Amino acid sequence: MARYIFITGGVVSSLGKGLMAASLAALLQARGFRVRIRKFDPYLNVDPGTMSPYQHGEVYVTDDGAETDLDLGHYERFTGVSARQSDNVTQGRVYQTIIQRERRGDYLGATVQVIPHVTDEIKAFATADTEDLDFVLCEIGGTVGDIESLPFMEAIRQLHNDLDRGQSIFVHVTLVPYIAAAGELKTKPTQHSVRELTSLGIQPDILLCRCEHPLPESERRKIALFCNVRPEAVIPALDASSIYAVPQQYHAEGLDAEVLRAFGISDAPAPTMERWDDIMDRQLNPEGEVTIGVVGKYVGLLDAYKSLHEALHHGGLANRVKVNIKWIDAELFEKGEDLAVSLEPMHGILVPGGFGVRGSEGKIASVRFARERNVPFFGICLGMQMACIEGARNTAGIADASTTEFGETSEPVVGLITEWMSKEGLQQRTAETDLGGTMRLGAYPAKLTGNSVVAGIYGANDISERHRHRYEVNASYRDPLEKGGLIFSGMSPDGTLPEIVERPDHSWFVGVQFHPELKSKPFDPHPLFASFIEAAVKQSRLV
Ligand code: GLN
Repeated sequence: MARYIFITGGVVSSLGKGLMAASLAALLQARGFRVRIRKFDPYLNVDPGTMSPYQHGEVYVTDDGAETDLDLGHYERFTGVSARQSDNVTQGRVYQTIIQRERRGDYLGATVQVIPHVTDEIKAFATADTEDLDFVLCEIGGTVGDIESLPFMEAIRQLHNDLDRGQSIFVHVTLVPYIAAAGELKTKPTQHSVRELTSLGIQPDILLCRCEHPLPESERRKIALFCNVRPEAVIPALDASSIYAVPQQYHAEGLDAEVLRAFGISDAPAPTMERWDDIMDRQLNPEGEVTIGVVGKYVGLLDAYKSLHEALHHGGLANRVKVNIKWIDAELFEKGEDLAVSLEPMHGILVPGGFGVRGSEGKIASVRFARERNVPFFGICLGMQMACIEGARNTAGIADASTTEFGETSEPVVGLITEWMSKEGLQQRTAETDLGGTMRLGAYPAKLTGNSVVAGIYGANDISERHRHRYEVNASYRDPLEKGGLIFSGMSPDGTLPEIVERPDHSWFVGVQFHPELKSKPFDPHPLFASFIEAAVKQSRLV
């Protein structure tokens, strides 16, 4: 039977609970345990799919087509375990389920209440599909004391009681701030946070204390005393040089050992850390560096392109080079900023996924620059669509080429997908369909042309990649685009949906309708990112 690790956060938000959960899971995995991480989000959106990337960061898409919190991306990148729809639940989804049931009459006669109905639903979510696991790590979003997270706190308190003794533990992540004027680390916020938690009936077993300065033994003992935990269970979590250094660092501080101790497991093998040692060796000892210009819309907030940021770095790890990313606001090119001045220093240009017309002409101009100057170019989702529009306008003579996403057009080189086949059968959409959860979402197979550039990169002709889009490149423009040198080298298995375009006569020019960044891992860099960075390394030797 699976054991449960409930992870809560205190004092402030943005403590990196997600990374902490991912790193702990990686350490348990390195000791041979089977792990899965789940995220409870206390907000009322049913999923983050309709939230702005500015508000919430990237929407992470799973193989089974769920639009989830970006922490699930960390979970996958650290453990390699593919996340599923059932690994992320929001309070909105919990209430939606309960209210639908209430309307159907399933609770006939009963008053529907937070306890037990909401808490039961949360517990059912936490414990579903866990038969083949050793550890389930459940991260509760938000900070202890938030009104929104109370039902989740109550649910994990109950679950701890429902489970056999020794089957679950609580890990609380807090902040130990440094007050420069006094030259001291302060433990009081941690004490208050734990008091808040215990008032909800939850006594943490382990405290993970984020701090900018080393935590002296005296402060560790003080926290232990006031918070009712063993001193060894107060784990200092100093800011790390890189997120991939976190597993090694937490291991050195004894986190995984304390977790096993709290469960009374004394015979676990030592972790095999080669994977993380190798990643850090590559990261700390690069043999060169490249600069990639990412021309997008949400460039003000790094989290909006979290997986992309990571995947580019993974491409660097594969080639033993440091990847500098220059985030460039596409709109600036429309407002008169000199495109050549911004893009000339780049060893590769990437146009990422996105929505809406804003900045699109800047993106199309960037594609043109990359094509004409023979600079490695990678277009992802909207980026591929922009590459096709650029190709249509400037190499196929279709001056009015556009996408119906940006308004009516006489040359819909990109148009709304109205029908496609999924595992659940034929999917149909219209322009009036709800916006939430109605895109072409999740893993779909594609067939690659035998002698294409991308088939060589993948070393395969059949691939599966994750999608999140409402529009597609219109296959009826294939002939003119191919005559202009833009080859359709990957198609959906039924041959209707273009999945990949490439320019074989260019140094490296690939556009993909899917999001390869979602599947890249530091220990298994995505082949497209590895190949793109390799091309950027070659480019860097030319300029
Ligand atoms: N807006 C485009 C579409 O819906 C691209 C989406 C994306 O880049 N994820 O097709």
